[in-house]
Amino acid sequence: MIKLETIISLAKQRGFVFQSSEIYGGLNGCWDFGPLGVELLKNIKESWWKAMTYRQDIVGVDASILMHPRTWEASGHITQFSDPMIDNKASKGRYRADNLIEEYIEKLRKKNKNEIADKLEIELSKAKEPNDYYNIIMNFSIPDPVSGGTDWTEVRNFNLMFKTFLGPVDDSASTIYLRPESAQGIFVNFKNIMDSARMKPPFGIAQIGKAFRNEINTKNFLFRTREFEQMEMQYFVKPGTELEWYEYWKEKRWHWYIENGMAPEVIRFKDHEKLAHYANKACDIEYLFPFGWGEIEGIHSRTDFDLKAHQEFSGKKLEYVDTVNKDRYVPYVIETSGGTTRGLMAFLCNAYTEEKLTDDSGKEDTRNVMKFVPQLSPIKAAVFPLVNKDGMPEYAEKVFDDVQKNFKAQYDTSGAIGRRYRRQDEIGTPFCITIDGDTLNDNTVTIRERDSMQQVRINADKISNYISDKLIR
Ligand code: ATP
Repeated sequence: MIKLETIISLAKQRGFVFQSSEIYGGLNGCWDFGPLGVELLKNIKESWWKAMTYRQDIVGVDASILMHPRTWEASGHITQFSDPMIDNKASKGRYRADNLIEEYIEKLRKKNKNEIADKLEIELSKAKEPNDYYNIIMNFSIPDPVSGGTDWTEVRNFNLMFKTFLGPVDDSASTIYLRPESAQGIFVNFKNIMDSARMKPPFGIAQIGKAFRNEINTKNFLFRTREFEQMEMQYFVKPGTELEWYEYWKEKRWHWYIENGMAPEVIRFKDHEKLAHYANKACDIEYLFPFGWGEIEGIHSRTDFDLKAHQEFSGKKLEYVDTVNKDRYVPYVIETSGGTTRGLMAFLCNAYTEEKLTDDSGKEDTRNVMKFVPQLSPIKAAVFPLVNKDGMPEYAEKVFDDVQKNFKAQYDTSGAIGRRYRRQDEIGTPFCITIDGDTLNDNTVTIRERDSMQQVRINADKISNYISDKLIR
């Protein structure tokens, strides 16, 4: 299993992901995407957008990040969107109380102390209020994982929404929030979209956008950050049909990850044991990260909770009126909610490969390859003149210009051809196109495929078709 540190350092060296404001020492829980990172992020979003909205029954929206503060009263975020937080008085370490307990359980299991671990797990599954967590931590003498001390404060609930002010007056009347999820931008636009796009259930609204959570502990690189991006879709259905649609979307979303290169062994469904009060079924899709299984997407059957709440708080009817069948109802909702940036981290881990090779002379070597499926690869093709003379660079530049009309490409003239292949392997470029002496006579080029390292010779004017045939979407 690869180490997370390997992925973080690779991401920095090759220009996928940098620490935010690194020259100032970085900003905790925030990351920047470099030249290859933005391409990968864009490709993930494009693949999702095409899979989710290039169909009759789903349309898109791009709602603003700042929303009317009543939105968060209706959604329950003002009262409910908090994590239990605890401080260690001696070490000043601050933790999410539930995570502290979970990590302690894991440690116990590693030491084969399964009996206490089982007991703790049962207690944790019953805990709801800050005091419940506090009692568990005290009764089981759970120590600070860094200092080992057990001198704890009470557990308090900490709201995760970032506050700011609308306009020049910073008083409580002008308090607004950076959205902690993109879903509410979909619910508040439900009526606008149903009417303007003439949609009727079952239909969905999709959105990709930033969300912000003032997480107590950020950790594991892009897994838990304070600013991140989500890809969410809310599918509105007739009450009573929601569980069929729930199964439908579970299947669809599973296949999206498979199509994008994840093997069935590294993803799994995990049903929610504790259902949120508004959900009648929910599960996560988890990916096997270097640190263990972690959620990358949630699929939730949310009943009519959200639309009913917005109906109540706004006083506006949010129902579908079926004039033909003389029926009216507030639709039920199936939500698919994936992390774009957390997903990017999963795709980075998934692509990372070290291959042992033996050359003709029997010498062993390691090839580092990012095995992205071609549609996710940041760079789709690299163009090389075999040597820097005899008209090859001029021809190669023309090929490069042509390829660039359709695909993000790189042009490289430096070093032996083998070195150039390796550089592209390391960033996951699926196709390397070489212009050699024969090209000038017969207009054919070689295309070397990243994973098989096989070469084919094709006519230069067929390159774009060749590449697009290999992209699924
Ligand atoms: P968790 O239990 O990990 O905090 P959650 O259940 O609160 O996540 P949702 O609210 O369902 O997450 O959000 C949907 C998706 O958004 C998650 O599957 C994840 O991919 C992404 N996401 C949520 N919080 C973060 C975060 N702090 N940093 C990065 N991605 C996140």
